Amino acid sequence: MELKDAFSRVNAVSTDPDDLHTHGFSSNIYHPGALHSVIVYPESTEDVVKVVKIATKYRMPVVPYSGATSLEGHFRGHEVGGICVDLNRMDKIIQINEKDSDMVCQPAVRWMDINELLRDKGIPLFFPIDPGPGATIGGMLSTGCSGTNAVRYGTAKGEWFLNATVVLPSGEVIKTRRRSRKSAAGFDLTKLFIGAEGTLGIVTEVTIRLAPLLPTNVAVVHFLDVRAATEASIEIINQGAGIQCVELIDALSMKATNNYGKSKRKWQEKDSLFFKFQGPTDASLKETAQMVKKISEKHGSTGFALAKNQKEAEEIWTDRKNLYYSGLSLIPGSKGITTDVCVPISKLPDLIHETRKDLDSVGLVSPIIGHVGDGNFHALLLFKNDEEFKLAKEAVGRISRRAIELEGTCTGEHGVGIGKKEYLVEELGEGTVELMKTIKKAVDPLGLFNPGKLYPDRTRQEK
Ligand SMILES: Cc1cc2nc3c(=O)[nH]c(=O)nc-3n(C[C@H](O)[C@H](O)[C@H](O)COP(=O)(O)OP(=O)(O)OC[C@H]3O[C@@H](n4cnc5c(N)ncnc54)[C@H](O)[C@@H]3O)c2cc1C
Repeated sequence: MELKDAFSRVNAVSTDPDDLHTHGFSSNIYHPGALHSVIVYPESTEDVVKVVKIATKYRMPVVPYSGATSLEGHFRGHEVGGICVDLNRMDKIIQINEKDSDMVCQPAVRWMDINELLRDKGIPLFFPIDPGPGATIGGMLSTGCSGTNAVRYGTAKGEWFLNATVVLPSGEVIKTRRRSRKSAAGFDLTKLFIGAEGTLGIVTEVTIRLAPLLPTNVAVVHFLDVRAATEASIEIINQGAGIQCVELIDALSMKATNNYGKSKRKWQEKDSLFFKFQGPTDASLKETAQMVKKISEKHGSTGFALAKNQKEAEEIWTDRKNLYYSGLSLIPGSKGITTDVCVPISKLPDLIHETRKDLDSVGLVSPIIGHVGDGNFHALLLFKNDEEFKLAKEAVGRISRRAIELEGTCTGEHGVGIGKKEYLVEELGEGTVELMKTIKKAVDPLGLFNPGKLYPDRTRQEK
């Protein structure tokens, strides 16, 4: 009631059952959803402050919500209900500073829209962090995401988010720093919120850095097996080739792409690498292509194919970007658990090889795709019933622990949400997890911000 009084605008507060369902459940995730009590649609930082103050007064959980593309149950409701803060009406670009290569925007601006707008305006810059289609700047910052471009541009944890305006659980509004590219003024508080998954505050404005738009081209090459493909990719990266992306697409994923029916071509169903080469000039693109072809051949590759023009390059890359949905289409009506392990790149061939063997031995249909340039890959474990779901969950546990043993992580880019909490102590150690909890308690003493996510429930690992 107090929320409705605080927001007299039409449709600013909703308890519509369909709306509640959309915000608490997601077809992208395998975790059971849970409903929020109410959805609020703020339009400004001041609106967010109002919501936070009401939530604090009534001790209600607060869950920020933006693009809703996260994969680990990040935005589902809490068991006791609570307020879901849907930021999608805060989707304005506030300032483009072309000379400084940065942009100030509200949190619900989508990375794809930013790049389209810059292209339409003829501004030769782009934002290189590229997670799921539909992801927003606020959600991307909050999950610490990355994507296919990470091999060249790094992740959200790099220097792409310069400054954030955040409404803290106390209702206070802070800016984490100013717009300058560098700052050594104390702790890096922007980074405190990167990967905090909405547990420390709500981001209401962000300054992002943009990169120069350079000419690119795309190539595909096939290998005898995943190990040969991965080893070739390591050698290519270590030779310093001009690579923007190198993606492993295994034979099953290639088959899925053919099955899905949206591709403009019929792919060979072999373990393959998809490359995006990057300029600065057309001559350097050609040189990179030659170098990649030669190193791939050394690892037994076949069928190296370079896109003949921009249209072909875009079509091929769209096939790569559709892989999550084409993978799901291998078993109509199935759901998928996406693993997200990341290891030092030299350990990747062994880890992928072991994972393939493991998944085949339990009989799960599981296409594998990898951001192999970063040592990160995803197996999409398909399931249709409780028995397969149990097998898939157990396999996720084995894959995650194997990665941790190899000095890696259970999540290279998707974040923790509720799905990866159980691995954190094993991966980071009790002291590190306790420090995270201490920070959480200091910033959100009532524990109202996105409760039940990110922090393991108990310090000791549940076995
Ligand atoms: C097909 C597909 C492909 C994907 N590929 C990739 C990939 O390649 N790389 C990758 O990293 N991820 C990938 N993802 C996952 C997803 O796109 C990322 O996790 C993304 O960063 C989530 O952004 P979002 O706007 O959808 O956030 P949401 O899902 O809305 O929210 C994510 C989390 O951030 C919090 N949050 C949202 N907005 C705010 C805010 N303004 N302030 C504070 N907290 C906030 C939420 O409470 C939640 O905890 C993929 C997902 C799909 C469906």
